[in-house]
Amino acid sequence: MFIITACNNIKLQETKKPLTKEIFAMDTEITLTCYGENAERTLSEAEERIKEIDGLMSTGKADSEISQLNKKGNAKLSNDVYYLIKRAVEISKKTNGAFNPLMYPIMKLWGFDTKRYRIPGEKEIKEKLEFTDINSIVSDENTRKISLKKGMEIDLGGIAKGFTSDELIKIFKKNGVDGLVNLGGNVSVTERKPENKPYKVGIRSPYSGLLGVVTVRDKSVITSGGYERYFEKNGIRYHHIMEPSTGKPANSDLLSVTVISKDGMYADALSTGIFVMGKKTGIAFFKQNHEKFDIILLDKKSKIYVSNGIKNEFISKGFDVEVIKE
Ligand code: AMP
Ligand code: MG
Repeated sequence: MFIITACNNIKLQETKKPLTKEIFAMDTEITLTCYGENAERTLSEAEERIKEIDGLMSTGKADSEISQLNKKGNAKLSNDVYYLIKRAVEISKKTNGAFNPLMYPIMKLWGFDTKRYRIPGEKEIKEKLEFTDINSIVSDENTRKISLKKGMEIDLGGIAKGFTSDELIKIFKKNGVDGLVNLGGNVSVTERKPENKPYKVGIRSPYSGLLGVVTVRDKSVITSGGYERYFEKNGIRYHHIMEPSTGKPANSDLLSVTVISKDGMYADALSTGIFVMGKKTGIAFFKQNHEKFDIILLDKKSKIYVSNGIKNEFISKGFDVEVIKE
């Protein structure tokens, strides 16, 4: 996904120039854009917060809370990490296991942690699937202690960016500035751009160019797809979103799933979860739970399915678009 911002709009640039900052963290290119008087201070605070969250949640950093928890099997956690694990477990149950924050042993098996990719054998996969039972996470609200069974490891990669976006937008709002954050194509925006305009967010097409553009205020627009990270062997593509019931890249009939919500963390987890569910189950899940979010799906026949709540705000060229009936 990519974002069309006021930077492209020369007239706006003349009147209210945004301040931007680019940061590489969480394995992702992050761009922060701010309008308003406190923009500079806001960007510094936002950068601090990104580094803090990355330091807590990165599986790639040996001293992060997540790495320590994974290594020791139990740990007393910060508010941030405890809260995110709790939400991840709730969403895992709600999505019937399609979203599962315990996929790290499986991710490692396929080499997604080191980028030394390989295709594991059935036996290895079966062994590691033993460690992905969401009901085996034990938590204590009072001490914020989480305990895992031996072999279990948490991976917040499917939810942490959405959480971070929410935290950054909170900082923007606290400082009274408007703007947007773009974490590797996942975009969250405040209520308005200068002149009270809404934001136009481009959703990247898995082929090339754009799937479409969605007009939003105070929302996150989060996309998951197998095209985002993958390796190829003998002409077959193996991507990074795992089907928790098989321990293999999800054999989804969807190419991409965009979830639009005020709750960026929820949108992030759901975009991953609905991709795993596939079209039929994903749309059924949406119909049962649609109060808090909208969806834009692209299936393998290049057809777009857009939910009713966002259909008037979504523009697409060259794709067949069907509105999902609620
Ligand atoms: P996203 O890009 O938000 O769809 O998240 C994908 C990332 O989430 C992967 O790179 C893994 O770190 C992790 N992940 C993979 N499969 C799942 C799954 N079924 N549920 C939750 N997280 C997953
Ligand atoms: Mg996600």
